[in-house]
Amino acid sequence: MENLTANEIAGFGIGVLLLYSTVSASKVDSFIASFQRRSLGMCKRCGDLKMIACSNCKGVGSVRKGSNYFSNMVDDFFESFGDAPKPAPMVPCTKCLSKGRTACPECSIATRVIQ
Ligand SMILES: [Zn+2]
Ligand SMILES: [Zn+2]
Repeated sequence: MENLTANEIAGFGIGVLLLYSTVSASKVDSFIASFQRRSLGMCKRCGDLKMIACSNCKGVGSVRKGSNYFSNMVDDFFESFGDAPKPAPMVPCTKCLSKGRTACPECSIATRVIQ
């Protein structure tokens, strides 16, 4: 009985270990990616574009009023048949002023030393 319990614990431990190594591997990947960009003198956030896509409107520049994930799915469903009910009005994104992009927070730091 003790052996069985030990095996169960070992199995659980390996499962956690595998999960942990998967998670840490992706962290290491992103760390290396940001390190490579930095070593190239590029902004690690935007790759020197000075802009990042607006997180509020996903770079579209406008958001559907009162939209949520479910209503977007319903809209897509009806739009695919070309017989859409009157869609919710699009309103300009207030976060990016309907530009679809916002200034990169890393690049917009005035004290950043450019070498
Ligand atoms: Zn926006
Ligand atoms: Zn940047």
